[in-house]
Amino acid sequence: AKGSGRGRYRFFAGDLLRAAEERKTLEEDLHDALARGELALHYQPIVMAQDNRVIGVEALLRWTHPRCGAISPARFIPIAEESNLIRAIGEWVLFRACADAAAWPMPLRVAVNVSPVQFADEHFPVLVATALARSGLDPARLELEITEGVFMQENGATDARFKALKGLGVRLSLDDFGTGYSSLGYLRTAPFDKIKIDQSFVRGATQTGSRNRAIIAAIVALAQALDMETTAEGVESFDQFDLMKALNVSHVQGYIYSVPLDNAAFMQALGGEPWVIQPSG
Ligand code: C2E
Ligand code: CA
Ligand code: CA
Ligand code: CA
Repeated sequence: AKGSGRGRYRFFAGDLLRAAEERKTLEEDLHDALARGELALHYQPIVMAQDNRVIGVEALLRWTHPRCGAISPARFIPIAEESNLIRAIGEWVLFRACADAAAWPMPLRVAVNVSPVQFADEHFPVLVATALARSGLDPARLELEITEGVFMQENGATDARFKALKGLGVRLSLDDFGTGYSSLGYLRTAPFDKIKIDQSFVRGATQTGSRNRAIIAAIVALAQALDMETTAEGVESFDQFDLMKALNVSHVQGYIYSVPLDNAAFMQALGGEPWVIQPSG
């Protein structure tokens, strides 16, 4: 038993080493990914719960690694954040999303994920202003998705930064609400236009007596009282969709409408006007 224990330990240490090496390699590869054109933005529709009208999209970053294939942003964004690559990547995302959205035949909103590392940069509002100016996108169509992480970051969420961004006329949404170290104080001071209800709450909300359901109802009530919109993320089934509607969530996003699509596929899907898609969980 002792021997096998030591064997397991060695195996574990080897795993850690391999993970560290793999991470280092990924970081190096990510460094070149932008220049090599391996990054792309996909767009997932965000739909009005009451009438299935597409109001906007969320831009989601995709990396096709030359040898490993698709690598999830959940995996490479943290690497980008720790290595500061997030600045160059985040800038590319912002400019690409604004340029794509400006060329769409309909004035949909485009929501862009912003890393706390980007947000902590005092020049971030200037970067946003530049992306808007260069693309010609109406600022009211740009929504910045910010997580609670900005409030942990040294120098992160200053009133001045929020004011500067709101001054540009862009929208701000609080992403992954309730999954981190939430404090209602953020909602009192920061000028959010929307709360995104994390898919971890949506999951299981349809079971009877679910606490998730009570939490979603409370988030919606809070948002309404503060004059904010809500989006339920990760809605996959008709049961979840019906429940979100019943709970008066303003917008729904999830596979029930569409997976994230590349810009060409999304443009094609935009076809008719006004763009309405039916849920098809
Ligand atoms: P997120 O911002 O919470 O994005 C929502 C995630 O849920 C996306 O995962 C999306 O593809 C996925 N999703 C959408 N509908 C469904 C559904 O019905 N069911 C399930 N199971 N999942 C659904 P994705 O694209 O893998 O992105 C993961 C995370 O990576 C994002 O979470 C976000 O935190 C980060 N991320 C993605 N793109 C960017 C980016 O451009 N910049 C930054 N800083 N972070 C990004
Ligand atoms: Ca997001
Ligand atoms: Ca989210
Ligand atoms: Ca999430």
